[in-house]
Amino acid sequence: MKNGKTERSKSFGYLIVSTDESDLLTCIIWEEGTLGVEVLEDRCSGGKIACKAYFETEESRDRCRQRIDKELPEADVTESGSEVIDDWISLLHGGFEPVAAGPLLVVPAHAPPPSIPGAGLLKINPGLGFGTGTHPTTRMTLELLCEQIRPGARVCDVGTGSGILAIAAALLGASEVLAVDIDADAIENASGNLRINGVEEKVELRHGSIELAAGRTFHLVLANIFATILIGLLQRGLADIVAPGGSLVLSGFDPVGADRLRTAVEAAGMEYSELRTSGDWAAMLAVKRER
Ligand code: SAH
Repeated sequence: MKNGKTERSKSFGYLIVSTDESDLLTCIIWEEGTLGVEVLEDRCSGGKIACKAYFETEESRDRCRQRIDKELPEADVTESGSEVIDDWISLLHGGFEPVAAGPLLVVPAHAPPPSIPGAGLLKINPGLGFGTGTHPTTRMTLELLCEQIRPGARVCDVGTGSGILAIAAALLGASEVLAVDIDADAIENASGNLRINGVEEKVELRHGSIELAAGRTFHLVLANIFATILIGLLQRGLADIVAPGGSLVLSGFDPVGADRLRTAVEAAGMEYSELRTSGDWAAMLAVKRER
């Protein structure tokens, strides 16, 4: 997807991997820039998971394979190949149904807007950035965002994907929003979505991670990424960018891993407040005491 043009049919690299270290595998696959992961339920058994991860190029697929061989040698890479996918955007993101988030309704940008009185529309053009609102982690983060945001708040969205959380914050009255992502394709997708929603002036969108927020503080910090990455970010100063009296919303992890995350949150000087769950996914709210 370059220069704003989207090719709907193209070739992707893929890997099929099985392991019982699912957390580490997802972390590696994600960090190596997967476009989407399909869990192969029929090949999962006895604590082992098997999944097929898609990559934009064969080079990125091979880089990921090298990391798996090095960091997770017990994992079994059963297949490494390429596949032409027609209408890949629909495949990876699905056609999505409108999702209610507080006073907002998240809708696909290309569909005729539903007329629901009183609902502000948050339009998303699904692209390579994750986040249409239908995934439980995005939904729970949006829910906590709607509850925690105050007019004029400064908000930081770490791992913005499609830009959905940053756009919601801007539409709900944030005075300033910083949105960062390490994935250039997500930044391109988010940039288009900021424009569609008319909030490009309010949201500072930058390619990178929390180092871009250093020295600043936010009333609300949102990060919907995998547990291992969240723990790494907490060790690298994620809590330092939360203003005294402010909140941190974390999602993207399994409820089973919530204790590990809570320990990391407390070690970073934040106070655990609550945990929400939806199936295999959880979201956590933590607050920073006023000084
Ligand atoms: N905020 C969206 C997207 C979440 S997907 C939502 O809630 O739906 C997670 C995003 O985090 C991906 O776009 C990924 O590229 C990005 N990401 C992963 N590791 C990151 C890191 N260390 N710093 C910043 N962004 C990161």
